[in-house]
Amino acid sequence: MSLIIEVAIPVPLFNTFDYLCSQKASIGARVKVPFGQKKVTGIVLSYKDKSKFDKLRSVEEVLDQEALLSKEILDFLFWSASYYHHPIGEVLSNAIPKNLRIGKPAVIKKETTINDNSSTNPLKQTSEQKKAVVDVLKYENSFHGFLLHGVTGSGKTEVYLSITEWLLKKEKQVLVLVPEIGLTPQMIVRFEERIKAKVVAVHSQLNETQKQDAYLMAKSGEAKVILGTRSAIFTPIPKLGLVIVDEEHDGSFKQQSNFRYSARDLSFMRAKLANIPLILGTATPSLETLKNVVDQKLTRLVLSSRPGGAILPEINLIDMRSQASEALSIPLISKMEHYLKEDKQVMLFINRRGYAPVFYCTECDWRAECNNCDSTLVYHRNINRLKCHHCGLETVPESSCPSCKNHDLKILGYGTERLEENLESFFPDTTVIRIDRDTTRRKKAFTTHLEKINSGESCIIVGTQMLAKGHDFSNLAFVGILDVDVGLMSLDFRATEHLAQLLVQVSGRCGRGKYKGEVNIQTRYPNHPIFNFIRDSQYTKYANHLLTERQDAQLPPYAHQALICANSKNKDAPEKFLSEVANLINNIDMDSVEIWGPVPAVIEKKSNYYYFNLYLQSTNRNELHRVIKTFYKHLETIKISSTVRWFIDIDPIE
Ligand code: ADP
Ligand code: ZN
Ligand code: ZN
Repeated sequence: MSLIIEVAIPVPLFNTFDYLCSQKASIGARVKVPFGQKKVTGIVLSYKDKSKFDKLRSVEEVLDQEALLSKEILDFLFWSASYYHHPIGEVLSNAIPKNLRIGKPAVIKKETTINDNSSTNPLKQTSEQKKAVVDVLKYENSFHGFLLHGVTGSGKTEVYLSITEWLLKKEKQVLVLVPEIGLTPQMIVRFEERIKAKVVAVHSQLNETQKQDAYLMAKSGEAKVILGTRSAIFTPIPKLGLVIVDEEHDGSFKQQSNFRYSARDLSFMRAKLANIPLILGTATPSLETLKNVVDQKLTRLVLSSRPGGAILPEINLIDMRSQASEALSIPLISKMEHYLKEDKQVMLFINRRGYAPVFYCTECDWRAECNNCDSTLVYHRNINRLKCHHCGLETVPESSCPSCKNHDLKILGYGTERLEENLESFFPDTTVIRIDRDTTRRKKAFTTHLEKINSGESCIIVGTQMLAKGHDFSNLAFVGILDVDVGLMSLDFRATEHLAQLLVQVSGRCGRGKYKGEVNIQTRYPNHPIFNFIRDSQYTKYANHLLTERQDAQLPPYAHQALICANSKNKDAPEKFLSEVANLINNIDMDSVEIWGPVPAVIEKKSNYYYFNLYLQSTNRNELHRVIKTFYKHLETIKISSTVRWFIDIDPIE
């Protein structure tokens, strides 16, 4: 006798599909089913007595004897799909590793072994660390959210390790989310060295078999610590006892394509459903998190100083209005000389890769621009090409101006590559290590660079924001921060928040040893209030000041936003579509939801597609979500041009 089962299928549709099934199929198991002309892997959601449809097709094969997705993880995935208004079939398939998605058997290929490195001596904890550990463990068996707010280098990781060790004794598992493992290999090393149990890392540099194995070892309960990037939030972990989100302020917890979820935000629901504590750790809490502290949704635990006598660096400004050079000022060079002479490492931070961002004509107003995007081309000297950082277009630089035939074409501005070249001429006897996406494209390159830096040998490090993340460079004594002024002038309401976080994080790279470090920031706006706060290590004060501004302007986190973004190769189509969407929403009976737009995106044209945005905002989150649900119900009343692609982004951050 055949049963009717409801199956979620990875297609961008909100409905699920009914099939006949003659074998036993558990809820949460994978099934191979015919779909159109294809065979796809779906997930069994429920059994049914009858279906709305007559001619049901049959399941071809039941792929799992036991459920792959437990009820607990299914509940979490359903909640996520509903919150982000994303089709459940896609949410489920996004949550499982590719091999399982394509129907391979759910068996572990290669077990990870337990590291039996004689573990490093546990440190004598500071009283603040002890308090943090005790406070979290008070909530060992119930949901409670914490902000572990510790200055850079204050020993947050030590707190994570200590709580983890305790929970493992109770047979629990721990999930640790980090922004980008590739950039912070130290975190894995420290867990592996310390924890005498299986630690699995889940990140994009693993191959598909490794990803599947890590997933299945977490699911079976064998792996005790699961350390991963954002998608690890969906790992099935039957004995989950704690969720940690390290560097919670980091933007990479938000997925910016297809299923646009925030792993940081979802961690609350994950911990709530499992009834366990949650720790968000950072030196520079996001405004969302600080508001949660104010609203008593999170308890703040503070680590106010660096253990072992290390002190925070001194921060000074260099006023670029009185400097002739646009990149390396005279005071900066002399500071670098000073520290290099003492055999220290120095680091320069600039958030732009390539050689120079502008290639222009000295006679007319021509500058090299991308044909496919609204953006200028960046000159890369080592390959002698102009490159678009949005679509990847590469061209050979013109030898004369295409507009006026003038032969005098010049470059303007600085990227990491040009800085590296300049430094080599200023400091011919010092090693310069450049770290950006161009020098670390190969998998091992970044690790090799880090090893060189960690050897402690005196050198100059030049890099982009890749350097801002939790690295612990013990011989680094000086950090120069270049070109921050764009962040002060930006129209994005989050720009100053992000700049403050970046300045604190980059500064935090130095002075980790016994040596007080120094940070110099070059700016043409030395009177901007941000610098007073940063100089006095008053991030929280500045963040509170920004929170007040957001409250006055009724911006997030005091209001909730959703963005509907449409794009098309046809210039008028997205705007027309979004105007109809706006009309539809305006006809919904609602209060407190405001509509803004359609407006062109900041970069309107990218890879020959035109982008338009429509913003919805409300101080009432439930009302906003109710309106979006109603909008979806009536969506078929809008005729959508076949050239238009669109998506919805809940709590957008860009
Ligand atoms: P964070 O994660 O807050 O940036 P870490 O956990 O990396 O800080 O700690 C910074 C440094 O301080 C590390 O080298 C760590 O070993 C050391 N450390 C942490 N806690 C203590 C302690 N209680 N006593 C001595 N050193 C400590
Ligand atoms: Zn010209
Ligand atoms: Zn382009």
